Amino acid sequence: MIRNPVPWPNGAKCAACFTLDMDAESLLHLAHPQQAHSMVSAASMLRYGPDVAVPRILDTYRHYGIRQTFFVPGWCAERYPYAVEAMVREGHEVSAHGYMHEHPNEQSDADERHWLLRSLSAVQSVTGAPSAGWRAPLYRFSHRSAELLLEAGVTYDASLMGDDIPYLIETPRGTLLELPSHWGMDDWPPFMHSSELEFEMPIQSAARAWEAWWEEFEAMWEFGGLWVPVWHPFLSGRLARWRHTHRMIGKMLDKGQVWFAPMRDIAAHVCACMGNGTWAPRTEQPLTLPRAAPGTETAFAVPPAEETRR
Ligand SMILES: [Zn+2]
Repeated sequence: MIRNPVPWPNGAKCAACFTLDMDAESLLHLAHPQQAHSMVSAASMLRYGPDVAVPRILDTYRHYGIRQTFFVPGWCAERYPYAVEAMVREGHEVSAHGYMHEHPNEQSDADERHWLLRSLSAVQSVTGAPSAGWRAPLYRFSHRSAELLLEAGVTYDASLMGDDIPYLIETPRGTLLELPSHWGMDDWPPFMHSSELEFEMPIQSAARAWEAWWEEFEAMWEFGGLWVPVWHPFLSGRLARWRHTHRMIGKMLDKGQVWFAPMRDIAAHVCACMGNGTWAPRTEQPLTLPRAAPGTETAFAVPPAEETRR
């Protein structure tokens, strides 16, 4: 069902990486810049991430001997350096995820570049190393993002949803490696409930949420895909949920032939395969629709056929 699976290391059937986005209260400050300081309960829910969940998550990874990836907004790295330092100390990857969780596709050209660079430098100031990767806050990757990431020296992006395996995004500056996931692997739909953040889902049990994630895992395992949960310490790191995940990681390891690795290692492996000719990815041109003329924002702009054809 996957026509061109990646040859994963040591004959692994699939690659797997839990990506935990440690957003903390950046979400609140972005949504309510004037009132966030007084939203104490919502802030406490979000702070649970760095203060309670991250140490628990790191314990599980240490228990199983796996290294994974955290995406952290620059402001969160500056506010919770101890959480980020613990991730780095234990060999996990920490890559950037905006500065205050701002949305690149709602910014001007200059603002997107400014906040991307500020995000990267803030994370590096705590981790001591450049970010290998990037995830756009709330998947809000813009028509400029791929080119700006290449310009900034970022190796891979993890914001898009266009395949089950890595692929390349073509830009005038070169190609950017995409390590995709999708909303079905995100923990907001099953777990997030916050009136302050206007995302009020009927909360599911950990077992029910994992039913879907396990189906995704089995399919990726069977066909050679890339399994990437997009989770948040303040949601999935809650006690009953992480207890369930701790057990499920054991189950995945028992199944065998799963390559758990940080995203940066997965990117390096994919680049090595491209370099030695053992695998060639699909290349995608970003779908760029011409902007509607002023005053005609409601009309569809129909691109010429050659722009959408691949
Ligand atoms: Zn986020």
